[in-house]
Amino acid sequence: MDNDAISQAAERLSAGQRLVVFSGSGLSAESGIPTFRDEGGIWERFPPEDFAEIPGLIKTFLTHPDRLREFVAEGIGDAARAAPNAAHAAIAELQERRQVTVVTQNIDGLHQDAGSKTVHELHGSLFRLKCTRCQHRVDLSRQEIRDLSERLGEPLPMPAKRRRLIRLMLPLLRRCGECRSRMRPDIVFFGEQLPAEAWQQAQVASMHCHGMLVVGTSAQVYPAAMLPAVAHDSGAKVVVVTLDPRFEARWANQIVVGPAAEVVPAIVGEIE
Ligand SMILES: [Zn+2]
Repeated sequence: MDNDAISQAAERLSAGQRLVVFSGSGLSAESGIPTFRDEGGIWERFPPEDFAEIPGLIKTFLTHPDRLREFVAEGIGDAARAAPNAAHAAIAELQERRQVTVVTQNIDGLHQDAGSKTVHELHGSLFRLKCTRCQHRVDLSRQEIRDLSERLGEPLPMPAKRRRLIRLMLPLLRRCGECRSRMRPDIVFFGEQLPAEAWQQAQVASMHCHGMLVVGTSAQVYPAAMLPAVAHDSGAKVVVVTLDPRFEARWANQIVVGPAAEVVPAIVGEIE
């Protein structure tokens, strides 16, 4: 690890009270959750057009219910079994010394599990359902999702595979307690808008922060990719922690290359 780079990063982030941590899938990957977009990622085996968009999901359900079952079991299983890593813990610890707002593209709830209090989830959460009609939301426990992924781990018995799959997935598609409409996972699928409130709060926090720590995201997917640019252009110092030695961005004041679980605790340790 480059100690000079760590000290310099800590100094840049120490300049003011308000910090934003902007995290992405690279941070979760260090907790054992496979990424979607990277090489060897989930989208290579489960093409997004069939699994990440609502119309594709419906088609897959009708034509290949077992493939849909495998996708859901895999997509939720690793996240349900995961635990926060040293970077999540350091980010939570930083709250004791700074006003920290976490903005995350991850849906695994690991920032909250580590103890972070203010977390804006740009892509929703695997551990929450939302009503398709009213604003009602319901939290799901890690255990519930783990149990579901285990039940989905077995091939569907013939006949009536689709009916069987629906029955297995009912915990995710239950009726709303307020209006009796169908609920669905509170996750942003391809082609859907980011949740308005989380997105607005993320923008406001980025505009008013003194420093931003970008962890485990290439920040190239719009609109979320705007946030570091907004922070930078509003005068904040932006520090990037990445595994990618070729990373570059006009808004990055400093890039520290290395695993988040090592680099982030080292930087946080030097912020007084
Ligand atoms: Zn409802």
